Amino acid sequence: MFNLKVQGQRVSHLPFEELKTQGYLECIESAIRIAKEKLDKIKSLPAGFDNTILGLDECSDDLRIASNLYHAIFAAHGNERIRALAAPISQKITEFSNDLLLDEALFGKVEAVYQNKTQLSLGTEHTTLLEKTYRDFVRNGAQLNIEQKSQLRKIDDELSKCAPEFSNRVLKATNSFELHITLEKDLEGIPQDAIAEAKAKAADRGGWIFTLQAPSLTPFLTYCKNRELRKQMWLQYNSRCLVGEETTVELVKEIVKLRHQRAHLLGFKSHAEYVLEERMAKSAHQVNNFLQELKQAYLPAAKREMDELNTFAKNELGFKDDVAPWDVSFLIEKKKEKDFHFSEEELRPYFELRQTQKGLMDLTEKLFKVRFQKTSFALYHDLIESYEVLEASGEHLGFIHLDLFARDTKQGGAWMTAWVDQGKFDQKIVRPHIAIVCNFRQPSEEHKTLLNFIEARTLFHEFGHALHGLFSKCTTNSLSGTNVYWDFVELPSQFMENWLLEQDVVNKFATHYKTGETLPPQLLKKLRDSQHFMAGYYGVRQLSFGTLDMAWHSKSLNELEGSVLGSQDFQPFEKESLQDLLLMPQVPGTSMSAAFSHIFAGGYSAGYYSYKWAEVMDADAFEAFKEKGLFDPAVAQSFKSEILERGGSEHPETLYKRFRGRLPTPDALLRRDGIASFEEQKSES
Ligand SMILES: [Zn+2]
Repeated sequence: MFNLKVQGQRVSHLPFEELKTQGYLECIESAIRIAKEKLDKIKSLPAGFDNTILGLDECSDDLRIASNLYHAIFAAHGNERIRALAAPISQKITEFSNDLLLDEALFGKVEAVYQNKTQLSLGTEHTTLLEKTYRDFVRNGAQLNIEQKSQLRKIDDELSKCAPEFSNRVLKATNSFELHITLEKDLEGIPQDAIAEAKAKAADRGGWIFTLQAPSLTPFLTYCKNRELRKQMWLQYNSRCLVGEETTVELVKEIVKLRHQRAHLLGFKSHAEYVLEERMAKSAHQVNNFLQELKQAYLPAAKREMDELNTFAKNELGFKDDVAPWDVSFLIEKKKEKDFHFSEEELRPYFELRQTQKGLMDLTEKLFKVRFQKTSFALYHDLIESYEVLEASGEHLGFIHLDLFARDTKQGGAWMTAWVDQGKFDQKIVRPHIAIVCNFRQPSEEHKTLLNFIEARTLFHEFGHALHGLFSKCTTNSLSGTNVYWDFVELPSQFMENWLLEQDVVNKFATHYKTGETLPPQLLKKLRDSQHFMAGYYGVRQLSFGTLDMAWHSKSLNELEGSVLGSQDFQPFEKESLQDLLLMPQVPGTSMSAAFSHIFAGGYSAGYYSYKWAEVMDADAFEAFKEKGLFDPAVAQSFKSEILERGGSEHPETLYKRFRGRLPTPDALLRRDGIASFEEQKSES
């Protein structure tokens, strides 16, 4: 079918080309056939840990690679033809995994091993694998009767079509609007490189074109002085998918209903309870408490900040009415300039992409005692850069591929993806191929790519995910790398972001792209202080997404059917769920749910809270470095060996405690956000 060349543990060839010529769907179908043959063999052998549990872990090697590579192309370089394959491919894979998990003979073998587990004297990772495998079957209906099983399959079949459909509609809706500006005065405030980009987009038509894609939308909403135009862009963005061809209203309701029905069938009260059984947070109750606890810390600060923003808008900018959602980014930037005499744009000249990338790699080399060596591969696009990653000893760790620039065929946002996971292929341990995909502006002859701070942070973030994939030293496919509980997966990524605020670190690479001057300490201090600015507002925003997600997925189906599922309008439900987390009145004709891809197309359903959960952890983990000295080799080594190398081989609580000596507390985060210090000052005065 396709060839994955493996030399030792090094995967030296990636079959992108073979998949393309032979057809993605065809390759996936034949990979499924191979996997099925392996399953037949497992069933013919006596039940045992190696025969059954390890056999299952390794049965879909080819399928995993084919699926990884297809999805890599789908997201990073998809055309209509490739995108059209998403639904049939997702359907085939779901069908296969359901067949597997509903196979009674297989479950019989797994159960036999599981019942006998105390006799097996398994190591830690294998114990986790056994429990996970058993639970996978049970959570997919292995203990259901025939009729229930067929119901479950029907639901899964429908759900597997819903997710790609949702993301296709969001993508289409995002691409369907452009703002064509013809008067130069309407550009006032917008940074030069965003204007240049907009001019290039307009090309022969003249004028400037802004779109709803982040590299265009974000600078527009942050800097454009024309309030009416900001409103227009904001409204377009926040009304995506509510009406017309790309509407997701019925689709959202269908997805939510199916998810709850599925959970009920399996004996859970709600989709959230089903999901959280396999999370560090464990239950909806604990998640709701967590959100509530943070809300109490963030909300008073957020309300105070919004009052200040309103006063600022009236006094300084002559606003006659209240601040509206399309003003917030703009006002935050303006007020920040005034309060801190500082615009994040001032940092941009210091974060030239090449330098930043090198700084990040140097930091990684220093902390974790590894090396990056440039290399090249035949991949799906010429602009992807590849590096081999080596231990200090010279031992091969894997490859990292950087696909950093925006293009029409790429989905928005940034992500890390494993093309080849660390784990086993053909019964031998292999090292991974990890990719980072971003949407940075492509540099040209005259214009280097200068990152704003958020983009630089994104690069560090995705790199953290990449390290989790690259450093993995597991022996099983199902538990390696980023195959951890969802609310643990953002720890390494968000942890990496912390380094950008440390002078000793940025000194090494953040030099002015023209003058070579090092990033001035006072500028970094302003940045750090400015991170406290509106921290309550941003905290509440995150909490509101988390809360809305939990409302869709932890309320009972009965309750939902009596309200939002029977309505065409999501706003009353969003209002009721969010209550005082809504810092501004809702704007008619908009919705937070209709294009909420994280929870309706991505894997974040009943999981959005995990961003905040991980922030609590990453701040707490980074404090360990601060306590012992940033570059303390023992702390870095412990983070690497207890967390980054361990994948999901043990419960995250256990891994975290082993690194930190205790469970995380929110204190470090609230301090970092300046929330705690404000409350302390208040109580002192
Ligand atoms: Zn992430």
